[in-house]
Formats: sequence, C-alpha cells, structure tokens
Amino acid sequence: MNVRFVDLAAAYRELAEEIDSAIAGVLRSGWYVLGPEVEAFEQEFATYTGAARCIGVGNGLDALTLILRGLEVRGGQEVIVPSNTYVATWLAVSLVGAVPVPVEPDIGTYNLDPGKIAAALSADTAAILAVHLYGQPFDLEGIAAVARQNGVPLVADGAQAHGALYRGAALGGAPSRATAWSFYPTKNLGAFGDGGAVTTDDEELAGRLRLLRNYGTKEKYVSDRIGVNSRLDEIQAAVLRVKLRYLDRWNGRRKAVADRYLDDLAATSVILPTVPEWAEPAWHLFVVRSEQRDALRRRLHAGGVEALVHYPRPPHRQAAYGVGLSLPIADRIHAEVLSLPIGPHLGGDEVDHVVSLVREMDG
Ligand SMILES: *Cc1c(COP(=O)(O)O)cnc(C)c1O
Repeated sequence: MNVRFVDLAAAYRELAEEIDSAIAGVLRSGWYVLGPEVEAFEQEFATYTGAARCIGVGNGLDALTLILRGLEVRGGQEVIVPSNTYVATWLAVSLVGAVPVPVEPDIGTYNLDPGKIAAALSADTAAILAVHLYGQPFDLEGIAAVARQNGVPLVADGAQAHGALYRGAALGGAPSRATAWSFYPTKNLGAFGDGGAVTTDDEELAGRLRLLRNYGTKEKYVSDRIGVNSRLDEIQAAVLRVKLRYLDRWNGRRKAVADRYLDDLAATSVILPTVPEWAEPAWHLFVVRSEQRDALRRRLHAGGVEALVHYPRPPHRQAAYGVGLSLPIADRIHAEVLSLPIGPHLGGDEVDHVVSLVREMDG
C-alpha cells in the first residue's frame, strides 16, 4: 500500500463543484485583484480567527514582513524568534533589516519556551515573533506576559495553525498584536497558489497594512508610504471562502488521525507530541521523535509510506545564517523528528498501515 504525505488533488475532488463555480464566478465578474471576494474573505476570516480585522496579502512571508514593517521594526533592531521553525520566520526579520535572535523551544511541545526569552532580550529588542509550530498553539499567555513586561509587541506566525485553539479561543486576535497566516496549498487552509493574510485587533496597524500591501496607496496613484505589491487574488479568495467553510470539519479529520496515532503508538519507542491541557492543535503535522529517525524513515519508505522531516536543517545551520550559533535543542529536534502522514483525506486503512510499520521498528 502506498501512503502519500498529502493528497491535494483529493481535497480538490471533494469540493470540485463548489470550487469550480466559485472560480467561474470570479472569471465572469471581470474583477481579478482586490475586489469583493477578497473583502468578503477578509471579513469571514477575521470572524473565524476572532480578530477585529483581516488584511489579505500575497503569501505568508509577506504577511510576517508587512507586520514587522507596520510595527516600524527597523535595521539594527532585534526580534526574538524560535530556534525551531521554518526559515521564513527568520527571513521576515532579516528582510526588514533587523536581526533574528533565536530562543530555544520546549523539547516536549517544540514551541518557544517563555522561560528562556528574558535572557535574550536587550535594549534593541523590537518584538517577539513566536510560531504556532506544527499546528500547536504556543504558550500564548506565558509569552504575552513576557512581551507585556518588556513593552514589546508579540507577533504570531500562524502559518501552520488555522483552526487551532488556545484555552478554547481562536488564535488571530489579542494578546498577539498581529498574526500572520499563509494559504500555501499544503497548509490546513490552502489556496490553489500563493496567498496570505494578517489578522489583528489593532485598527491602526490594520490601516497601515492596507496601505503597505498596495504600493502605499489608499487612493489610486497617491503613495503615502513606500509600499509593496502583495495582494490576495480574487480567485484565491473565492477558493478560500469555500474551503474556510470546511476547515473545522477537515481539522476534525486530522484530529481523528492524530488521536489514532496517539493511542496506537503510545506503547512504542517513538516519542509522541506533548499536548498541553490548554491546547487544541490544528494538527498541521504529526511530528514524532526517535533516536533512530533515519532508520524509521527508511522503514516507512520501504513500506510505501511517505514520511517527511520538518525540517532537515534549522535556520541557524542554513548558509543564509551561517553564524555558528550553538542551539543544541534545535539541533537535536532536527536530528530526531519525523512527520507521519496526516490530513483530511487519509484513509483509516492507510493509518493502520503507518501504525503497523512504526510498531515493527520495536519488534
Ligand atoms: C509556510 C510557512 C510560512 C511562509 O508562508 P508562505 O505562504 O509560503 O510564504 C511562514 N512560517 C511558517 C511557520 C510556515 O509554515
């Protein structure tokens, strides 16, 4: 049996009729950039994430970069980032000319450890940028408290966490000053191309971001700020409006897969993800850890199961950041993690197959 890591075409097939008609509607309308679909999606996604405002942008990296620009983070300043994240989190900081200052995660949740942030703060710290990694909310109250005590804004990278809950509440609004979202096709809420958004309760920041995403203009041909072109397309917004209606249902299917792995792999030697009592993950990824990670991956591949590593190389080991930092927890995570297939279109028999292969490792 072959088990693919994700099946994006299956996601399309399930909703084909609705998606085709949403796309056709945009094509017929004659309006393709920043129009009624984007506006409607912005309202619906703001409501979904519990935030006052949503601003659609071109992709997740732009969402992060524009938030930092909107908060006036500049060259020479520092931004606290997790050592364990996708490199885009760091890139956003570098792209505004600031310096990413990594802080190590908790080895159980893989998310930023609030207790380690204080030692990394300096007079130049302009923001804390934390990531709801693998779909698991970070310790929102713990990190927000550190941000508040030190008078810096908390920015969240929610690119992997659409639909995750923290103490029963959605992640888009306060206490984070702003949350960045990506709608890259593989994300829990994915478009058929690139897309992104910012959600925030801060009206002023929302206004600045609306300018920045569109050449710095409020009125056509009048530039108030040096902006960029980072807009969400009408077609992608129309697709996202359809898929948003299925997000909770599809996340529910992800959770059912996660629950099976958590039960059926509990007695094996792989280390399962730790879920704090206040977290309801969106299960973007199901990440296990093993000292025999590479052997486990080979075993799964030999059995037809595609398992991936998120990520093979931490940001501080990338040539782009070749600065020789010592971040042993991030290094260990990157050497030991393996992501098992999870998604709304994974069959029960496919989960059985993955479980039996992982169990064989111990036998
Ligand atoms: C996907 C992702 C991004 C970047 O999103 P793009 O839309 O691909 O630019 C940023 N941060 C994290 C954690 C991501 O997973």
